[in-house]
Amino acid sequence: MKNLNNKIKKIKIIIKRLADLYPDAKIHLKYNSAFELLISTILSAQCTDELVNKVMVPLYKEKYKTPKDILNDGIDNFRNNIKSINFYNNKSKSIFKLCEILEKKYNGNVPNSLEELTELPGIGRKSANVILGNYFGKKDAIIVDTHFKRVTSRLGLTENNDSEKIELELKELVPPSEQFDFSIRIGEHGRIICKAKSPKCDECNLNDICPSAYK
Ligand code: SF4
Repeated sequence: MKNLNNKIKKIKIIIKRLADLYPDAKIHLKYNSAFELLISTILSAQCTDELVNKVMVPLYKEKYKTPKDILNDGIDNFRNNIKSINFYNNKSKSIFKLCEILEKKYNGNVPNSLEELTELPGIGRKSANVILGNYFGKKDAIIVDTHFKRVTSRLGLTENNDSEKIELELKELVPPSEQFDFSIRIGEHGRIICKAKSPKCDECNLNDICPSAYK
């Protein structure tokens, strides 16, 4: 219990300091609709957001505004158009199936619940939370990506390794209205300061409360 209270106190401090440091942090993928964000989220797995933006922004503008546009163009053309993106072959298959389901079941729209999103091909909890938080404005969405896992672990907020367990654990500790911003800001901190190979503990505004500082 004492441990839990300490964690909650610590999280309050982290929320405040990261909000001061990254007041406007947001996702790096570019999109103009829930559909575009959904497709780019799938494509960004094991690929940089920069490359996904470079390939997809012109394609969304010129060709692929709806699931029907991708279906009408055909899987071979779609695959060919995204072939500079890692794992383009498997991703094309998932996206094509996804477009068929969106068209048949949702009339071409993107559903807005965790349950429905995670039933779609290529969409796990992390991607579903990206869509819910960024597009649908849900504040109680926690995005557990590689940065979030690393930074929360170094900060001593979790000892879990499993993404879903980390998400549920942090949901108990962070107030629902803060969860989305907290996860986006932790991700940003991981990209800029608490890097995987050489964390910049000297420059980190959490170094006085971080058990991994300078280790
Ligand atoms: S003090 Fe170092 S290890 Fe801890 S969060 Fe900051 S950069 Fe990461």
